[in-house]
Amino acid sequence: MQPLIDHARGFAGAVAGRRDEFARLGDGQKPEALFISCSDSRVMPALITGAQPGQLFELRNAGNIVPPHRSDASCAVAGTVEFAVRALGVSDIVVCGHSHCGAVQGLLNQSGLSVMPQVRRWLTQAGHGTGHSEVDLDAAVMRHVRTQLDHVRTHPCVVEGVAAGTLRLHAWFYRVTTGEVLANEPGTPNFLPL
Ligand SMILES: [Zn+2]
Repeated sequence: MQPLIDHARGFAGAVAGRRDEFARLGDGQKPEALFISCSDSRVMPALITGAQPGQLFELRNAGNIVPPHRSDASCAVAGTVEFAVRALGVSDIVVCGHSHCGAVQGLLNQSGLSVMPQVRRWLTQAGHGTGHSEVDLDAAVMRHVRTQLDHVRTHPCVVEGVAAGTLRLHAWFYRVTTGEVLANEPGTPNFLPL
């Protein structure tokens, strides 16, 4: 932890040369996209996309799970999606899964979740669970990402944005060992190089 603290301690000094750019961030934010990804430490949206401060509105949780819309739910994910679309007016939503994802692994094999009841309960929001015979974790993640994007589509603000042509949706797969990014070909299960 100490190297992280040291870096944070020196951060303001390190960006002193970008003072005007940082000062303008105080005027508000107009991010280009909502980027939904896993909390996994190996996935760094700004590193992958080259995003600068103010460009990406991020939503991260274990397994990049987006529960389907429920009007009576008090849901951090639903609230964040709604804020991004209605208040910030993002034009794009990306759901980005990744290789070696422990959450998707947990969905495939729940035997390791006995000491993590909260994780087990959270994973039930994914909309699919055990019963899939996939031994290829990458394929499971890709299927999982497409399911979460389907869930994104159930949120009323997204329904309206897509219908109006002001909102585009993307399902991505990031390979942590190579940096490759694949994108789902809409209407198919295929993931192709971005
Ligand atoms: Zn993950």
